[in-house]
Amino acid sequence: MRIVYCLILLFVLEACSQVAFTGRRQAQLIPIDTINSLSFSQYDEFLAANNTLPPDAPESVLIRRIGQDLVYAVEVYYKANGMEGELEKFDWEFNVVESEQINAFCMPGGKVVMFTGIMELAQNEDAMAVIMGHEIAHALAHHGNERMSQMMWAQLGMSALDIAISERPQATRELIMTAAGAGAQIGVMLPFSRKHESEADEIGLYLMTMAGYDPTEAVPFWERMGQVGGGAPPEFLSTHPGPERRADNLKRLIPKAREYAEKYPVPQSSRNSG
Ligand SMILES: [Zn+2]
Repeated sequence: MRIVYCLILLFVLEACSQVAFTGRRQAQLIPIDTINSLSFSQYDEFLAANNTLPPDAPESVLIRRIGQDLVYAVEVYYKANGMEGELEKFDWEFNVVESEQINAFCMPGGKVVMFTGIMELAQNEDAMAVIMGHEIAHALAHHGNERMSQMMWAQLGMSALDIAISERPQATRELIMTAAGAGAQIGVMLPFSRKHESEADEIGLYLMTMAGYDPTEAVPFWERMGQVGGGAPPEFLSTHPGPERRADNLKRLIPKAREYAEKYPVPQSSRNSG
């Protein structure tokens, strides 16, 4: 019996990892390969089912470039901290969906969607980098994994993803979209926790600053988001922290973001040459 406990303990310790930048310890209950394969197939389905702009549309080119800048920043930080092995589990992709929805998301494994509605609200590239930094941070910090395991338990009464897939395939596919903040197909929107949102804000701000974008744009952008108000779509507005609190947090973190940018110089590839 004791050996069983030891094995369980070993498994829990193995599954326990640390979030980059914040150092928060977390349990990743779903194997990354399993959640990624579900995530990647659902992402492709989402792109096919929606009005996805072609790769050479100006919006797509812009979002891909900002995304690549952010990925450079991620790589510099992870390499400098001996964490580059973790990045093997990411296969970054950036797409734009034509929609009035003020929303954006990044699915587990680094699959990003920006809606044209939120790009319009962003108004400038720095604010777009705020949004994308935030969404990428959700994926880097494996928030989808944490949420997915909670939701599987709460809604399907299951804790293993492969069992959930085989027994409730449709519900499981919908859950991963919801876990990524991609939509509320199941009717009930489970909010991202404050903890996850604040963590994504913080990591996202560091990344966009390291990538050469202006962190002071984060505050007015979230103010614009706050003004959009009623009738808003679920994920990005109502479940995120209140705009004033968020602005205060971000203002407080800007000096630290600039320190990161100095400490981890990122090659300013495409931005300056373009
Ligand atoms: Zn978020």
